[in-house]
Amino acid sequence: MFEVSNQPPPLEPYNLFAGDSVLREAVKRERAGWAEGGLNTLGATLGKPETIQLGFDANRFTPQLKTLDRYGHRIDEVEFHPAWHSLLTIALRAGLHSSPWAKPEPGAHVARAAGTYMLGQIESGVYCPLAMTYGSVPTLRQASDIAKEWLPKIFARDYDRRFIPVKEKTAALIGMGMTENQGGSDLRTNTTRAEPAGDGSFRLHGHKWFMSAPMCDAFLILAQAAKGLSCLLMPRWTPDGERNAVRILRLKDKLGNRSNASSEVEFDGAYARLIGEEGRGIQTIIEMANYTRLDCCTGSSSLMRAALAQAVHHARYRTAFQKKLIDQPLMTNVLADIALECEAATALSFRLARAYDEEGEAAQVFRRVVTPAAKFWICKRAPFVTAEAMEVLGGSGYIEESVMPRLYREAPVNSIWEGSGNVMCLDVLRAIGRTPSAADVLAAEIDDAGDARIKAFAAKLQRRLRSPERNDEAQARALTRELVLALQAALLVKHAPAAVADAFCVSRLAGEGGSAFGLLPHGADTAAIVARAAPQG
Ligand SMILES: Cc1cc2nc3c(=O)[nH]c(=O)nc-3n(C[C@H](O)[C@H](O)[C@H](O)COP(=O)(O)OP(=O)(O)OC[C@H]3O[C@@H](n4cnc5c(N)ncnc54)[C@H](O)[C@@H]3O)c2cc1C
Repeated sequence: MFEVSNQPPPLEPYNLFAGDSVLREAVKRERAGWAEGGLNTLGATLGKPETIQLGFDANRFTPQLKTLDRYGHRIDEVEFHPAWHSLLTIALRAGLHSSPWAKPEPGAHVARAAGTYMLGQIESGVYCPLAMTYGSVPTLRQASDIAKEWLPKIFARDYDRRFIPVKEKTAALIGMGMTENQGGSDLRTNTTRAEPAGDGSFRLHGHKWFMSAPMCDAFLILAQAAKGLSCLLMPRWTPDGERNAVRILRLKDKLGNRSNASSEVEFDGAYARLIGEEGRGIQTIIEMANYTRLDCCTGSSSLMRAALAQAVHHARYRTAFQKKLIDQPLMTNVLADIALECEAATALSFRLARAYDEEGEAAQVFRRVVTPAAKFWICKRAPFVTAEAMEVLGGSGYIEESVMPRLYREAPVNSIWEGSGNVMCLDVLRAIGRTPSAADVLAAEIDDAGDARIKAFAAKLQRRLRSPERNDEAQARALTRELVLALQAALLVKHAPAAVADAFCVSRLAGEGGSAFGLLPHGADTAAIVARAAPQG
């Protein structure tokens, strides 16, 4: 039998909170220091070998659609592996589906973001129903009778996997159905009809091309009513205790996100109730989209952190050419460059989460402009980071037993759903165009850093933001990228160690840095950057 040598131990057990300096600093800085105790406990739970195994199992034993029971009755249920339910049990217990609404307090959105950031490193699929439930609350509140009935169940923390009417359940989860096969970005093309039933409720007829987590208890649906596109709540069970007329046609065979079920559905007179004004469906549901877009930023940052932690861990133990990989100068450069990307994404995601904790015009403008901008750029970076981190592990990184293939397959999804890249950048232009104070709010945020490199970059950006050129759709990605880089640089200069801030500015504000990794120039303190990124404990 051959001898096994030069192989790293698995990165477990590992406290995902205590072992991550960047996360701990972000939580404190963005005013959720009070949550450290709970986050530390959650970080320890998530980093246990048995929890890590749940992530593997939930992805290996994927959800199965059961359209009919053994006698031929329609049941339209999806069966999940017990690992999926165990992960949701952990997540709901930590309040990751609704805590900032159930217990509003300064820093509540930041504290929740930290929890989801850690959960996403262990398993991202469960993040989908959690994000939708979290995002649904402001929309549900637009119909007080619906809010009164549903919010207590949404705020509850004892996950209830049973498929039964909500009034019999301990807790509820919410999904949403907007996308139809003829158009997902251009929602005005929706054809699903909402017909009044004569008793104040509506009946839905039509289809949805994507409706994820179909075992949620109710869905926010866009459908055409007499006055136009409207937002409705469609429960899986009718008030009479019957299965609602929601036919699950098939589950999507997805690249990644495999633990989660994403379905194609048809509505055959499904019971639903109106939320908000009839004909103003997009305005009603858009509130939800803002929160789920914030979650895409946190989610992609989390995937990058998971990949980086595995890469640095591996490089600390693996020797090649008589040196640990972490000490090979070119590998140190690659790892440091990935770490910069990850820290910049994390810092901006948590700064953005704080804007969701704050009132006032500046916070509102920041949320409006920076949410789509950050979603575009942070989600775009994740596939590059996960691919490069995979390579750090060499051939072992390409093998399913390492988590790297799963992270890599998961990485593009946050960029596609909840508004794809181009749609986000066009939204940034729209937000800037419609918000007179946008340029000033962004200038205040960026200029605060008082750093000459950022000042020069920001001055160029400000000229662009204030000139008619900003409306050029073909340049929307370029403008958005510049905006995000300026914000990230300002955050790092203000809050990160000099090694990180300097290397980020020199590589991202000028030059080719970030186009591939390992391109940091002479003088960058790569060893210090990697030491900071290394998972501790
Ligand atoms: C795993 C997964 C789960 C999903 N779950 C859900 C769900 O639960 N509920 C739900 O409603 N949807 C869901 N979706 C659907 C998702 O939100 C849509 O796929 C997405 O919004 C894009 O819509 P589309 O697929 O129709 O693409 P299209 O709208 O056809 O867009 C295609 C491409 O064109 C670009 N584009 C569009 N307009 C413009 C323009 N004016 N200028 C330049 N480029 C443009 C887009 O950025 C995109 O890259 C899910 C998708 C995936 C992959």
